[in-house]
Amino acid sequence: MLHVFTHEECLAHQPGPQHPECPARLDVILAALRNSPLAIDWRQAPLGTKAQVELAHTATHWQQVCAAAPETGLRSLDPDTHLSPGSLRAALRGVGGACAAVDLLRALERAHAFCLTRPPGHHATPDSAMGFCVFNQAAIAALHAQRQHGVQRVAVVDFDVHHGNGTQDILAGRPGLLYVSTHQFPHYPGTGSGSENRLGKLHNVPLAKGLDDESYRRLFSQEVLPVLAAFRPELLVVSAGFDAHARDPLGGLQLTEPTYGWLGQQLGRIACEHAHGRLLSVLEGGYNLQVLGSSVVAYASGVEEIMTTSTV
Ligand SMILES: [Zn+2]
Repeated sequence: MLHVFTHEECLAHQPGPQHPECPARLDVILAALRNSPLAIDWRQAPLGTKAQVELAHTATHWQQVCAAAPETGLRSLDPDTHLSPGSLRAALRGVGGACAAVDLLRALERAHAFCLTRPPGHHATPDSAMGFCVFNQAAIAALHAQRQHGVQRVAVVDFDVHHGNGTQDILAGRPGLLYVSTHQFPHYPGTGSGSENRLGKLHNVPLAKGLDDESYRRLFSQEVLPVLAAFRPELLVVSAGFDAHARDPLGGLQLTEPTYGWLGQQLGRIACEHAHGRLLSVLEGGYNLQVLGSSVVAYASGVEEIMTTSTV
């Protein structure tokens, strides 16, 4: 069963008329899911709390975001990251949704919870907003699972075309956490080379511009799946960005929808084999409105296929 956490307040984050991270992204994803054959349990993402934000971020970051939230107009946190009057509540729906999704998964088995909120999160560092991201939902979810539920090992897998520098920074050095990322390199934000890797804690898989479906699947099978299997996560958190699609305006990779379906199958299988089928996905990037909805449906369908048929 797919459990979707979302909220209409996530549409009120409006970072400017020409900004690629636009409210229509969420509209096309939700419409594609409603028109898909997937059985969906729709849930309202609650507002996150200061305490949840501070699982991953400094008190200074919380104060700076709250102080910057404008009553009218736009306020910039970095050259790409702008707050509108609805942005703080939108970002807090992402935080609250991710934590509520973890709470739900702890009570279920073979369940996929998908946080469809915006703004995205994986570039947000412990003390700063960055690259469209305000609060780091994936890192917060992983830390919430450890703190509130005593989960020993949480793996965060990130297949967005950009490296999740914020998630890496937040999780680095904390026990029981693994971050694995495939991303175009070199590319924004500039981090994520293989030389940063640390056995059992951090595994970056930098990808050359132009990489196609077949090569991506081969690298993912060789580089990512064995690292996840060796870690044996009790919960799998996925930073699900869809900007590695061939038609995405911000990425230079060549993935297509069938590979997102394949990714869903692979990650669903890891969750079933090690984590009682507990898989949390949080939306990161994906900026072509023509292919974003179909990419999300392909991914969620891939997960569902494994969750309903796996005999593990
Ligand atoms: Zn991205």
